[in-house]
Amino acid sequence: MAATAAAATAAAATLAAATSSLLRRSPLLRPHALRVSRDFAPRRFARHIASSTNEEAAAKTAAATADTGGPTIFDKIIAKEIPSSIVYEDEKVLAFRDINPQAPVHVLVIPKLRDGLTGLDKAEPRHAEILGQLLYAAKVVAEKEGVADGFRVVINNGAEGCQSVYHLHVHVLGGRQMKWPPG
Ligand code: AMP
Repeated sequence: MAATAAAATAAAATLAAATSSLLRRSPLLRPHALRVSRDFAPRRFARHIASSTNEEAAAKTAAATADTGGPTIFDKIIAKEIPSSIVYEDEKVLAFRDINPQAPVHVLVIPKLRDGLTGLDKAEPRHAEILGQLLYAAKVVAEKEGVADGFRVVINNGAEGCQSVYHLHVHVLGGRQMKWPPG
């Protein structure tokens, strides 16, 4: 992990140096948006790259067993075999705090019965009701968490979408200014 972070730091520093040098030498490549900011922080950039790389690696690994329909960690959470911090629950839906939060509020909303919904790409007409219930629950969670005025709902799908758990889930993120475009 430390080696990955160090390599990413070195790569970021090299990239910054090469970009600065290129921009200095070529006036044609000097539009405002391409300038390297004085605030550029190689370490922070490197941490961001390292963490994104981990998520992508986890997503690729998970994708290899995605469509077997085997149990996931969320089954254990639903069965209360492992602890979770539950924010909202009804007959069909469970919402609990993400173990690796990406915002001050980061809650996952899942169907208690997966019913083939390993990911959103597996949705069929019969799933329309539960999909609506998940989105409604996301709004209830945002209200409960005090972020209803500004929050983001995300569904990662497949390896390229950075999905790592193959039990459909809606991320509800809030409590900080969101950026666009997303990474
Ligand atoms: P995704 O990458 O979209 O598939 O999201 C899966 C999410 O599940 C990640 O944000 C993980 O941090 C989260 N997660 C994995 N295991 C747990 C757990 N035991 N409790 C809470 N969240 C978890």
